[in-house]
Amino acid sequence: MPKCAGYIRVSKFRKKDDKVSPETQKAAIIKLAAEDGYCEEDIDWYIDLDYSGKDTDRKDFPRMMENVQKYKNTPHYKDMYVYDLTRFSRNVLDFHVNANILESCGCRLKAAVQVIETETIEGEFVRNILVDAGEYQRKKIAKDVKINMYSHAEKGNWNGGTVPYGFILVNKKLVTNENLMKNVGFIIDSFANGHGANHVIECYYNQVPRIKSPTGKDRWSKNTVLGIVRNPIYIMKYRWGGNLYNARHVFADDKVKRYVSEENWLKANAWLDRRGEVAPRTHGSQHLLSSMIKCPFCGKNLNIRYNGRNHNLVRRYVCPSRNDYTAGRKCDCPVIDADSVEAAVVTAILNLADDPDIIETYIHEYKRLVEMDRPDYAGQKKRLEAELQRIKKEMKAMFSLFRNGRITEEQLGEQNAELLEEERLIKEQLAEVEQQENMTCQDNENIRAMSQLILSLNDLWPNMTVMEQRELISGLVKKINITPDGLDLDFGYFTLPVSCRMRTKTTMIF
Ligand SMILES: [Zn+2]
Repeated sequence: MPKCAGYIRVSKFRKKDDKVSPETQKAAIIKLAAEDGYCEEDIDWYIDLDYSGKDTDRKDFPRMMENVQKYKNTPHYKDMYVYDLTRFSRNVLDFHVNANILESCGCRLKAAVQVIETETIEGEFVRNILVDAGEYQRKKIAKDVKINMYSHAEKGNWNGGTVPYGFILVNKKLVTNENLMKNVGFIIDSFANGHGANHVIECYYNQVPRIKSPTGKDRWSKNTVLGIVRNPIYIMKYRWGGNLYNARHVFADDKVKRYVSEENWLKANAWLDRRGEVAPRTHGSQHLLSSMIKCPFCGKNLNIRYNGRNHNLVRRYVCPSRNDYTAGRKCDCPVIDADSVEAAVVTAILNLADDPDIIETYIHEYKRLVEMDRPDYAGQKKRLEAELQRIKKEMKAMFSLFRNGRITEEQLGEQNAELLEEERLIKEQLAEVEQQENMTCQDNENIRAMSQLILSLNDLWPNMTVMEQRELISGLVKKINITPDGLDLDFGYFTLPVSCRMRTKTTMIF
Protein backbone atom coordinates (compact mmCIF):
# COMPACT_ATOMS: atom_id res chain seq x y z
CA MET A 1 0.00 0.00 0.00
CA PRO A 2 1.38 3.44 -0.87
CA LYS A 3 1.65 6.09 1.75
CA CYS A 4 -0.70 8.96 2.40
CA ALA A 5 -0.33 12.19 4.35
CA GLY A 6 -2.17 13.20 7.48
CA TYR A 7 -1.96 16.79 8.61
CA ILE A 8 -2.80 17.97 12.11
CA ARG A 9 -2.81 21.54 13.25
CA VAL A 10 -3.72 23.17 16.51
CA SER A 11 -3.64 26.89 16.98
CA LYS A 12 -1.82 28.58 19.81
CA PHE A 13 -4.80 30.82 20.33
CA ARG A 14 -7.40 28.18 20.72
CA LYS A 15 -10.42 30.01 19.55
CA LYS A 16 -13.86 28.63 20.06
CA ASP A 17 -14.01 27.02 16.64
CA ASP A 18 -10.48 25.79 16.84
CA LYS A 19 -10.71 23.64 19.91
CA VAL A 20 -10.21 20.27 18.34
CA SER A 21 -7.46 18.37 20.08
CA PRO A 22 -4.69 16.71 18.08
CA GLU A 23 -5.94 13.32 19.29
CA THR A 24 -9.43 13.97 17.95
CA GLN A 25 -8.00 15.12 14.64
CA LYS A 26 -5.75 12.08 14.43
CA ALA A 27 -8.55 9.63 15.16
CA ALA A 28 -10.80 11.23 12.55
CA ILE A 29 -8.07 11.10 9.93
CA ILE A 30 -7.28 7.44 10.62
CA LYS A 31 -10.96 6.61 10.25
CA LEU A 32 -11.26 8.54 6.99
CA ALA A 33 -8.06 7.07 5.54
CA ALA A 34 -9.27 3.57 6.42
CA GLU A 35 -12.26 4.14 4.13
CA ASP A 36 -9.73 4.49 1.29
CA GLY A 37 -7.88 1.34 2.37
CA TYR A 38 -5.00 2.87 4.31
CA CYS A 39 -3.79 1.34 7.58
CA GLU A 40 -2.52 3.56 10.35
CA GLU A 41 1.09 2.68 9.39
CA ASP A 42 0.50 3.97 5.86
CA ILE A 43 -0.03 7.49 7.14
CA ASP A 44 2.90 9.93 7.21
CA TRP A 45 2.06 12.39 9.94
CA TYR A 46 2.74 16.10 9.74
CA ILE A 47 1.88 17.95 12.90
CA ASP A 48 1.94 21.68 13.67
CA LEU A 49 1.08 22.36 17.28
CA ASP A 50 0.76 25.83 18.67
CA TYR A 51 1.42 27.62 15.48
CA SER A 52 0.78 31.31 15.90
CA GLY A 53 -1.19 32.03 12.78
CA LYS A 54 1.54 32.95 10.37
CA ASP A 55 2.58 30.56 7.66
CA THR A 56 6.22 31.01 8.49
CA ASP A 57 5.66 29.48 11.89
CA ARG A 58 4.31 26.29 10.49
CA LYS A 59 7.14 23.80 10.48
CA ASP A 60 5.59 20.63 9.19
CA PHE A 61 3.26 22.12 6.61
CA PRO A 62 5.98 23.31 4.22
CA ARG A 63 7.80 20.02 4.71
CA MET A 64 4.65 18.14 3.73
CA MET A 65 4.05 20.32 0.67
CA GLU A 66 7.64 19.81 -0.35
CA ASN A 67 7.28 16.05 -0.11
CA VAL A 68 4.08 16.14 -2.13
CA GLN A 69 5.91 17.89 -4.93
CA LYS A 70 8.98 15.68 -4.84
CA TYR A 71 7.87 13.15 -7.39
CA LYS A 72 5.59 14.85 -9.85
CA ASN A 73 5.04 11.97 -12.24
CA THR A 74 4.47 9.30 -9.67
CA PRO A 75 2.72 11.17 -6.90
CA HIS A 76 4.38 10.82 -3.55
CA TYR A 77 0.98 10.92 -1.89
CA LYS A 78 -2.24 10.25 -3.72
CA ASP A 79 -4.22 11.35 -0.71
CA MET A 80 -3.90 13.94 2.00
CA TYR A 81 -6.17 13.99 5.02
CA VAL A 82 -7.06 16.81 7.34
CA TYR A 83 -9.66 17.17 10.06
CA ASP A 84 -11.33 20.07 8.30
CA LEU A 85 -10.28 22.42 5.53
CA THR A 86 -9.37 25.25 7.89
CA ARG A 87 -6.52 23.02 9.16
CA PHE A 88 -5.07 23.00 5.71
CA SER A 89 -4.88 26.75 5.20
CA ARG A 90 -5.05 29.88 7.20
CA ASN A 91 -7.11 31.83 4.65
CA VAL A 92 -8.96 31.32 1.42
CA LEU A 93 -6.22 32.71 -0.80
CA ASP A 94 -3.62 30.54 0.82
CA PHE A 95 -5.99 27.61 0.54
CA HIS A 96 -6.21 27.89 -3.21
CA VAL A 97 -2.50 28.28 -3.74
CA ASN A 98 -1.87 25.05 -1.87
CA ALA A 99 -4.90 23.27 -3.31
CA ASN A 100 -3.58 24.07 -6.79
CA ILE A 101 -0.24 22.56 -5.90
CA LEU A 102 -1.92 19.38 -4.70
CA GLU A 103 -4.03 19.21 -7.84
CA SER A 104 -1.00 19.60 -10.09
CA CYS A 105 0.72 16.77 -8.22
CA GLY A 106 -2.25 14.44 -8.43
CA CYS A 107 -2.86 14.51 -4.70
CA ARG A 108 -6.42 14.59 -3.35
CA LEU A 109 -7.28 16.55 -0.25
CA LYS A 110 -9.92 15.11 2.02
CA ALA A 111 -11.43 16.55 5.16
CA ALA A 112 -12.90 14.35 7.88
CA VAL A 113 -15.36 17.05 8.87
CA GLN A 114 -17.01 18.77 5.99
CA VAL A 115 -17.68 22.37 6.91
CA ILE A 116 -18.61 23.21 3.37
CA GLU A 117 -21.95 21.62 2.73
CA THR A 118 -23.45 23.00 -0.41
CA GLU A 119 -26.97 22.05 0.69
CA THR A 120 -27.04 24.64 3.42
CA ILE A 121 -27.27 28.32 2.66
CA GLU A 122 -24.19 28.95 4.80
CA GLY A 123 -22.19 26.25 3.11
CA GLU A 124 -23.17 27.48 -0.31
CA PHE A 125 -22.15 30.93 0.70
CA VAL A 126 -18.72 29.98 2.01
CA ARG A 127 -18.18 27.87 -1.06
CA ASN A 128 -18.84 30.88 -3.27
CA ILE A 129 -16.28 32.91 -1.43
CA LEU A 130 -13.80 30.12 -1.94
CA VAL A 131 -14.58 29.94 -5.64
CA ASP A 132 -14.11 33.71 -6.05
CA ALA A 133 -10.83 33.70 -4.22
CA GLY A 134 -9.78 30.72 -6.28
CA GLU A 135 -10.35 32.55 -9.51
CA TYR A 136 -8.46 35.54 -8.26
CA GLN A 137 -5.60 33.31 -7.24
CA ARG A 138 -5.58 31.41 -10.51
CA LYS A 139 -5.32 34.66 -12.42
CA LYS A 140 -2.42 35.72 -10.28
CA ILE A 141 -0.69 32.40 -10.81
CA ALA A 142 -1.19 32.64 -14.58
CA LYS A 143 0.41 36.07 -14.48
CA ASP A 144 3.39 34.90 -12.44
CA VAL A 145 3.91 32.01 -14.81
CA LYS A 146 3.98 34.40 -17.75
CA ILE A 147 6.53 36.59 -16.03
CA ASN A 148 8.64 33.55 -15.24
CA MET A 149 8.49 32.16 -18.75
CA TYR A 150 11.18 34.31 -20.20
CA SER A 151 13.61 33.70 -17.38
CA HIS A 152 13.05 29.96 -17.80
CA ALA A 153 13.77 30.25 -21.50
CA GLU A 154 16.90 32.13 -20.63
CA LYS A 155 18.05 29.35 -18.36
CA GLY A 156 17.81 27.03 -21.31
CA ASN A 157 14.60 25.12 -20.81
CA TRP A 158 11.91 24.92 -23.41
CA ASN A 159 8.87 26.53 -21.87
CA GLY A 160 6.70 23.50 -22.01
CA GLY A 161 4.25 25.13 -24.39
CA THR A 162 3.24 23.48 -27.64
CA VAL A 163 6.29 22.31 -29.51
CA PRO A 164 6.34 24.30 -32.75
CA TYR A 165 5.66 22.48 -36.04
CA GLY A 166 8.83 21.00 -37.44
CA PHE A 167 10.47 20.23 -34.11
CA ILE A 168 10.49 17.44 -31.61
CA LEU A 169 11.50 17.77 -28.01
CA VAL A 170 14.55 15.81 -26.88
CA ASN A 171 15.91 16.41 -23.39
CA LYS A 172 13.96 19.68 -23.18
CA LYS A 173 15.65 20.95 -26.34
CA LEU A 174 14.14 21.51 -29.77
CA VAL A 175 15.43 19.15 -32.44
CA THR A 176 14.51 19.72 -36.09
CA ASN A 177 12.47 17.14 -37.95
CA GLU A 178 14.04 17.48 -41.38
CA ASN A 179 10.96 16.49 -43.42
CA LEU A 180 8.64 18.87 -41.66
CA MET A 181 11.18 21.64 -41.52
CA LYS A 182 11.35 21.59 -45.33
CA ASN A 183 7.68 22.58 -45.29
CA VAL A 184 8.39 25.44 -42.92
CA GLY A 185 11.12 26.64 -45.28
CA PHE A 186 8.76 26.42 -48.25
CA ILE A 187 6.04 28.39 -46.44
CA ILE A 188 8.37 31.18 -45.36
CA ASP A 189 10.05 31.41 -48.77
CA SER A 190 6.63 31.62 -50.44
CA PHE A 191 5.67 34.59 -48.28
CA ALA A 192 9.06 36.22 -48.84
CA ASN A 193 8.31 36.02 -52.56
CA GLY A 194 4.97 37.72 -52.14
CA HIS A 195 2.66 34.70 -52.13
CA GLY A 196 -0.08 34.38 -49.56
CA ALA A 197 -1.49 31.63 -47.39
CA ASN A 198 -3.86 30.42 -50.13
CA HIS A 199 -0.94 29.68 -52.43
CA VAL A 200 0.66 27.49 -49.78
CA ILE A 201 -2.62 25.76 -48.95
CA GLU A 202 -3.31 24.95 -52.61
CA CYS A 203 0.26 23.73 -53.22
CA TYR A 204 0.08 21.37 -50.27
CA TYR A 205 -3.40 20.14 -51.17
CA ASN A 206 -2.42 19.36 -54.77
CA GLN A 207 0.96 17.87 -54.04
CA VAL A 208 1.33 14.09 -54.42
CA PRO A 209 1.57 12.72 -51.83
CA ARG A 210 -0.47 15.42 -50.17
CA ILE A 211 1.20 17.34 -47.37
CA LYS A 212 -1.01 17.17 -44.34
CA SER A 213 -1.50 19.93 -41.80
CA PRO A 214 0.15 19.73 -38.36
CA THR A 215 -3.12 18.28 -37.04
CA GLY A 216 -3.30 15.70 -39.85
CA LYS A 217 -5.93 17.44 -41.98
CA ASP A 218 -5.90 17.37 -45.79
CA ARG A 219 -6.22 21.11 -46.00
CA TRP A 220 -4.13 23.51 -43.95
CA SER A 221 -5.90 26.39 -42.25
CA LYS A 222 -4.86 29.92 -43.04
CA ASN A 223 -4.12 30.59 -39.38
CA THR A 224 -1.77 27.63 -39.14
CA VAL A 225 0.19 28.91 -42.12
CA LEU A 226 0.30 32.47 -40.79
CA GLY A 227 1.26 31.18 -37.36
CA ILE A 228 4.31 29.51 -38.85
CA VAL A 229 5.39 32.61 -40.75
CA ARG A 230 4.93 34.75 -37.64
CA ASN A 231 6.81 32.46 -35.29
CA PRO A 232 10.36 33.76 -34.75
CA ILE A 233 11.42 30.39 -33.34
CA TYR A 234 12.26 29.44 -36.96
CA ILE A 235 15.01 32.02 -36.98
CA MET A 236 16.03 30.89 -33.50
CA LYS A 237 14.53 33.90 -31.85
CA TYR A 238 12.08 34.31 -29.06
CA ARG A 239 9.41 36.98 -28.92
CA TRP A 240 8.88 38.70 -25.62
CA GLY A 241 7.04 41.94 -24.99
CA GLY A 242 7.00 42.66 -28.68
CA ASN A 243 10.75 42.23 -29.05
CA LEU A 244 12.86 39.41 -30.42
CA TYR A 245 15.60 37.71 -28.46
CA ASN A 246 18.14 35.10 -29.22
CA ALA A 247 16.73 31.69 -28.33
CA ARG A 248 19.75 29.59 -29.26
CA HIS A 249 19.65 27.88 -25.87
CA VAL A 250 16.33 26.15 -26.52
CA PHE A 251 17.78 24.34 -29.54
CA ALA A 252 19.85 21.18 -29.54
CA ASP A 253 21.71 22.42 -32.66
CA ASP A 254 21.35 25.09 -35.31
CA LYS A 255 20.14 22.82 -38.13
CA VAL A 256 16.99 24.91 -38.52
CA LYS A 257 19.17 27.45 -40.32
CA ARG A 258 19.53 25.00 -43.20
CA TYR A 259 15.81 25.22 -43.90
CA VAL A 260 14.79 28.75 -43.00
CA SER A 261 16.72 31.81 -44.05
CA GLU A 262 16.54 34.68 -41.62
CA GLU A 263 16.47 37.11 -44.51
CA ASN A 264 13.38 35.45 -45.94
CA TRP A 265 11.71 35.22 -42.56
CA LEU A 266 12.14 38.97 -42.07
CA LYS A 267 10.95 39.59 -45.62
CA ALA A 268 7.92 37.37 -45.13
CA ASN A 269 7.03 39.14 -41.91
CA ALA A 270 7.55 42.57 -43.42
CA TRP A 271 5.21 41.43 -46.20
CA LEU A 272 2.60 40.40 -43.63
CA ASP A 273 3.07 43.75 -41.87
CA ARG A 274 2.50 45.59 -45.11
CA ARG A 275 -0.68 43.60 -45.56
CA GLY A 276 -2.01 45.70 -42.71
CA GLU A 277 -1.53 43.47 -39.71
CA VAL A 278 -0.07 46.44 -37.87
CA ALA A 279 -1.62 49.88 -37.52
CA PRO A 280 -1.20 51.59 -40.89
CA ARG A 281 0.18 54.80 -39.39
CA THR A 282 3.45 53.16 -38.43
CA HIS A 283 3.82 51.88 -41.94
CA GLY A 284 2.82 54.96 -43.84
CA SER A 285 6.31 56.27 -44.24
CA GLN A 286 9.74 55.15 -45.31
CA HIS A 287 11.41 57.95 -43.39
CA LEU A 288 13.29 56.80 -40.35
CA LEU A 289 12.00 59.34 -37.85
CA SER A 290 8.56 60.27 -39.15
CA SER A 291 5.87 60.58 -36.52
CA MET A 292 8.57 60.60 -33.86
CA ILE A 293 9.94 64.14 -33.78
CA LYS A 294 7.52 66.47 -32.05
CA CYS A 295 7.37 70.21 -32.58
CA PRO A 296 8.23 71.91 -29.25
CA PHE A 297 5.80 74.73 -29.99
CA CYS A 298 2.65 73.24 -31.45
CA GLY A 299 3.18 69.60 -30.56
CA LYS A 300 2.59 68.29 -34.06
CA ASN A 301 4.71 65.58 -35.62
CA LEU A 302 7.27 66.86 -38.08
CA ASN A 303 6.75 65.70 -41.65
CA ILE A 304 9.14 65.24 -44.52
CA ARG A 305 9.33 68.02 -47.08
CA TYR A 306 11.51 68.04 -50.16
CA ASN A 307 13.29 71.22 -51.17
CA GLY A 308 15.28 71.99 -54.26
CA ARG A 309 15.31 70.57 -57.78
CA ASN A 310 15.52 67.04 -59.16
CA HIS A 311 19.27 66.54 -59.02
CA ASN A 312 19.69 68.50 -55.80
CA LEU A 313 16.74 67.43 -53.71
CA VAL A 314 17.04 67.97 -49.95
CA ARG A 315 14.95 66.03 -47.47
CA ARG A 316 13.88 67.86 -44.31
CA TYR A 317 11.70 67.32 -41.27
CA VAL A 318 9.37 70.27 -41.03
CA CYS A 319 6.57 71.21 -38.63
CA PRO A 320 3.30 71.19 -40.58
CA SER A 321 2.31 74.50 -38.94
CA ARG A 322 5.45 76.20 -40.16
CA ASN A 323 4.00 77.35 -43.42
CA ASP A 324 0.41 77.20 -42.34
CA TYR A 325 -0.68 80.83 -42.40
CA THR A 326 -4.34 79.88 -42.14
CA ALA A 327 -3.85 79.50 -38.40
CA GLY A 328 -2.94 83.17 -38.24
CA ARG A 329 0.70 82.78 -37.40
CA LYS A 330 3.38 80.38 -38.52
CA CYS A 331 5.17 78.01 -36.14
CA ASP A 332 8.78 78.82 -35.20
CA CYS A 333 9.87 75.20 -35.15
CA PRO A 334 13.30 74.72 -36.73
CA VAL A 335 13.64 72.80 -39.97
CA ILE A 336 15.75 69.67 -39.51
CA ASP A 337 18.00 68.27 -42.20
CA ALA A 338 16.76 64.69 -42.61
CA ASP A 339 19.83 62.84 -43.89
CA SER A 340 22.15 64.13 -41.19
CA VAL A 341 19.68 63.81 -38.31
CA GLU A 342 18.83 60.22 -39.23
CA ALA A 343 22.50 59.30 -39.38
CA ALA A 344 23.14 61.05 -36.05
CA VAL A 345 20.25 59.29 -34.30
CA VAL A 346 21.33 55.88 -35.57
CA THR A 347 24.94 56.53 -34.56
CA ALA A 348 23.86 57.64 -31.09
CA ILE A 349 21.77 54.49 -30.60
CA LEU A 350 24.44 52.16 -31.95
CA ASN A 351 27.02 53.83 -29.72
CA LEU A 352 24.76 53.06 -26.82
CA ALA A 353 24.88 49.41 -27.88
CA ASP A 354 28.67 49.52 -27.70
CA ASP A 355 28.69 50.70 -24.14
CA PRO A 356 26.56 48.62 -21.75
CA ASP A 357 27.75 50.72 -18.81
CA ILE A 358 25.94 53.79 -20.06
CA ILE A 359 22.60 51.96 -20.23
CA GLU A 360 23.25 50.52 -16.78
CA THR A 361 23.85 53.99 -15.40
CA TYR A 362 20.71 55.40 -16.96
CA ILE A 363 18.57 52.50 -15.80
CA HIS A 364 20.02 52.57 -12.34
CA GLU A 365 19.09 56.23 -12.04
CA TYR A 366 15.57 55.54 -13.29
CA LYS A 367 15.08 52.74 -10.81
CA ARG A 368 16.38 54.94 -8.01
CA LEU A 369 13.82 57.60 -8.84
CA VAL A 370 10.99 55.09 -9.09
CA GLU A 371 12.01 53.42 -5.86
CA MET A 372 11.84 56.77 -4.08
CA ASP A 373 8.12 57.27 -4.51
CA ARG A 374 6.85 53.76 -4.90
CA PRO A 375 3.72 53.25 -2.81
CA ASP A 376 3.70 50.52 -0.21
CA TYR A 377 1.82 47.90 -2.25
CA ALA A 378 2.46 45.10 0.20
CA GLY A 379 1.04 47.18 3.06
CA GLN A 380 -2.01 48.17 1.05
CA LYS A 381 -2.64 44.58 0.05
CA LYS A 382 -2.27 43.37 3.59
CA ARG A 383 -4.79 45.94 4.79
CA LEU A 384 -7.30 45.02 2.08
CA GLU A 385 -6.90 41.32 2.66
CA ALA A 386 -7.50 41.90 6.36
CA GLU A 387 -10.68 43.74 5.40
CA LEU A 388 -11.81 40.74 3.36
CA GLN A 389 -11.15 38.48 6.31
CA ARG A 390 -13.20 40.76 8.53
CA ILE A 391 -16.11 40.61 6.08
CA LYS A 392 -15.87 36.87 5.96
CA LYS A 393 -16.06 36.76 9.73
CA GLU A 394 -19.04 39.08 9.75
CA MET A 395 -20.74 36.85 7.24
CA LYS A 396 -20.14 33.82 9.40
CA ALA A 397 -21.43 35.65 12.46
CA MET A 398 -24.49 36.76 10.52
CA PHE A 399 -25.25 33.23 9.46
CA SER A 400 -24.95 31.90 12.94
CA LEU A 401 -27.36 34.60 14.12
CA PHE A 402 -29.74 33.46 11.42
CA ARG A 403 -29.31 29.82 12.33
CA ASN A 404 -30.05 30.60 15.96
CA GLY A 405 -33.18 32.45 14.97
CA ARG A 406 -31.88 35.83 16.10
CA ILE A 407 -32.41 37.48 12.72
CA THR A 408 -35.03 36.83 10.06
CA GLU A 409 -34.39 35.55 6.58
CA GLU A 410 -35.23 39.01 5.28
CA GLN A 411 -32.67 40.64 7.57
CA LEU A 412 -30.16 38.04 6.51
CA GLY A 413 -30.76 38.87 2.88
CA GLU A 414 -30.33 42.60 3.50
CA GLN A 415 -27.14 42.27 5.51
CA ASN A 416 -25.82 39.75 3.08
CA ALA A 417 -26.32 42.16 0.19
CA GLU A 418 -24.55 44.92 2.09
CA LEU A 419 -21.59 42.73 2.94
CA LEU A 420 -21.36 41.42 -0.60
CA GLU A 421 -21.27 44.98 -1.92
CA GLU A 422 -18.58 45.88 0.57
CA GLU A 423 -16.65 42.82 -0.42
CA ARG A 424 -16.96 43.67 -4.08
CA LEU A 425 -15.55 47.17 -3.50
CA ILE A 426 -12.60 45.86 -1.55
CA LYS A 427 -11.88 43.27 -4.20
CA GLU A 428 -11.90 46.04 -6.77
CA GLN A 429 -9.38 48.01 -4.77
CA LEU A 430 -7.29 44.91 -4.29
CA ALA A 431 -7.29 44.28 -8.02
CA GLU A 432 -6.20 47.85 -8.60
CA VAL A 433 -3.28 47.55 -6.21
CA GLU A 434 -2.36 44.26 -7.87
CA GLN A 435 -2.42 45.94 -11.23
CA GLN A 436 -0.19 48.76 -10.05
CA GLU A 437 2.18 46.27 -8.57
CA ASN A 438 2.14 44.30 -11.76
CA MET A 439 2.93 47.39 -13.76
CA THR A 440 6.07 47.85 -11.69
CA CYS A 441 6.97 44.27 -12.51
CA GLN A 442 6.20 44.92 -16.13
CA ASP A 443 8.38 48.00 -15.96
CA ASN A 444 11.35 45.94 -14.85
CA GLU A 445 10.64 43.42 -17.57
CA ASN A 446 10.45 46.20 -20.14
CA ILE A 447 13.68 47.74 -18.97
CA ARG A 448 15.38 44.40 -19.22
CA ALA A 449 13.89 43.75 -22.64
CA MET A 450 14.91 47.19 -23.82
CA SER A 451 18.51 46.97 -22.66
CA GLN A 452 18.84 43.51 -24.16
CA LEU A 453 17.51 44.78 -27.43
CA ILE A 454 19.88 47.74 -27.42
CA LEU A 455 22.82 45.49 -26.65
CA SER A 456 21.99 43.19 -29.55
CA LEU A 457 21.54 46.09 -31.97
CA ASN A 458 24.94 45.84 -33.58
CA ASP A 459 24.10 42.32 -34.73
CA LEU A 460 20.54 43.07 -35.74
CA TRP A 461 20.96 46.39 -37.47
CA PRO A 462 22.99 45.52 -40.57
CA ASN A 463 20.57 42.72 -41.50
CA MET A 464 17.47 44.87 -41.34
CA THR A 465 15.55 46.64 -44.04
CA VAL A 466 14.92 50.37 -43.69
CA MET A 467 11.36 49.57 -42.72
CA GLU A 468 12.49 47.23 -40.01
CA GLN A 469 15.06 49.66 -38.75
CA ARG A 470 12.38 52.30 -38.57
CA GLU A 471 10.10 49.99 -36.65
CA LEU A 472 12.89 49.07 -34.30
CA ILE A 473 13.75 52.71 -33.60
CA SER A 474 10.13 53.67 -33.05
CA GLY A 475 9.82 50.71 -30.70
CA LEU A 476 12.85 51.78 -28.71
CA VAL A 477 12.49 55.55 -28.75
CA LYS A 478 9.15 56.73 -27.42
CA LYS A 479 9.52 60.21 -28.83
CA ILE A 480 12.11 62.72 -29.94
CA ASN A 481 12.11 66.23 -28.50
CA ILE A 482 13.78 69.24 -30.05
CA THR A 483 16.08 71.11 -27.66
CA PRO A 484 18.12 74.28 -28.20
CA ASP A 485 21.23 72.14 -28.81
CA GLY A 486 19.70 69.40 -30.91
CA LEU A 487 17.47 66.49 -29.94
CA ASP A 488 16.59 64.41 -26.90
CA LEU A 489 15.78 60.78 -27.66
CA ASP A 490 13.24 59.73 -25.07
CA PHE A 491 13.55 55.99 -24.39
CA GLY A 492 10.83 56.08 -21.75
CA TYR A 493 13.24 55.20 -18.98
CA PHE A 494 15.99 57.63 -19.88
CA THR A 495 16.77 60.25 -22.50
CA LEU A 496 19.78 60.42 -24.76
CA PRO A 497 20.86 63.84 -26.05
CA VAL A 498 22.05 64.19 -29.64
CA SER A 499 23.77 67.50 -30.41
CA CYS A 500 23.41 69.23 -33.72
CA ARG A 501 26.52 70.18 -35.64
CA MET A 502 25.20 73.48 -36.94
CA ARG A 503 22.23 75.64 -36.28
CA THR A 504 21.20 78.51 -38.53
CA LYS A 505 18.30 80.79 -37.90
CA THR A 506 15.87 78.30 -39.38
CA THR A 507 17.66 74.98 -39.81
CA MET A 508 19.41 72.32 -37.74
CA ILE A 509 22.10 70.17 -39.33
CA PHE A 510 23.54 67.19 -37.49
ZN1 LIG B 1 5.09 73.53 -34.73
